[in-house]
Amino acid sequence: MQINAIYPGTFDPVTNGHLDIIARASKLYTKVIVAVAVNRGKSPLFTLEERVELVKSVTVEFCNIEVIGFDNLLVDCAQQQNATVILRGLRAVTDFEYEFQLAGMNRKLAPQLETMFLTPAEQYEFISSTMIREIAQLKGNVSCFVPNAVNQRLIEKFN
Ligand code: ADP
Repeated sequence: MQINAIYPGTFDPVTNGHLDIIARASKLYTKVIVAVAVNRGKSPLFTLEERVELVKSVTVEFCNIEVIGFDNLLVDCAQQQNATVILRGLRAVTDFEYEFQLAGMNRKLAPQLETMFLTPAEQYEFISSTMIREIAQLKGNVSCFVPNAVNQRLIEKFN
C-alpha cells in the first residue's frame, strides 16, 4: 500500500530533532513531503527559500523525501500532494495540547486525512528552532543541535 505523508512546519531552521523525525518517517511511508510553511505571523529568521533550501540540503541522502514551500491551508496542500497522513513530531507533554487541537481541527476540515505523531530520540526532545535561534543570536554554540550546513548559515546570519 502506497502511503504519502506530509510533514509540515516552519523549520526556522531545520534541527536535528526535525531530521530524526524525517529519518523515522522515511522508513514508514512511501514518500514524505516536508512542507515548509511561509508563516508570516512568526516573522521567520530565514526566508522561505532559505528554509526550503536548507531542508533540501540536509535530506539529500533520503530518496523518498521531497521538500516544498506552501502558503495555503495545510489540508489543501496535503490533498494537492496526494498525502493521506499529516505527520507531526511530539517532544513533550507541552506540545500535546496544541497538537491535539490542531489534529482535531484538521480532522474537521478534512476527515479523510489522518494525523500521526512520532517522537524523537531522547537527546532531541528538548531542541526547538526558537531556542536555536536565540542561542545562535547570542553567539552560543548550537553545533550539536543542528546539521552542519544550518550551523554555518546561523553563524553567517549573526555575524
Ligand atoms: P518549532 O516548534 O521548533 O518551531 P516547527 O514548527 O518547525 O518547529 O515544527 C514542525 C514539527 O516538528 C512540529 O510537529 C514539531 O512538534 C516538530 N518538532 C520540532 N522540533 C522537534 C524535535 N526536536 N523533535 C521532534 N519533533 C520536533
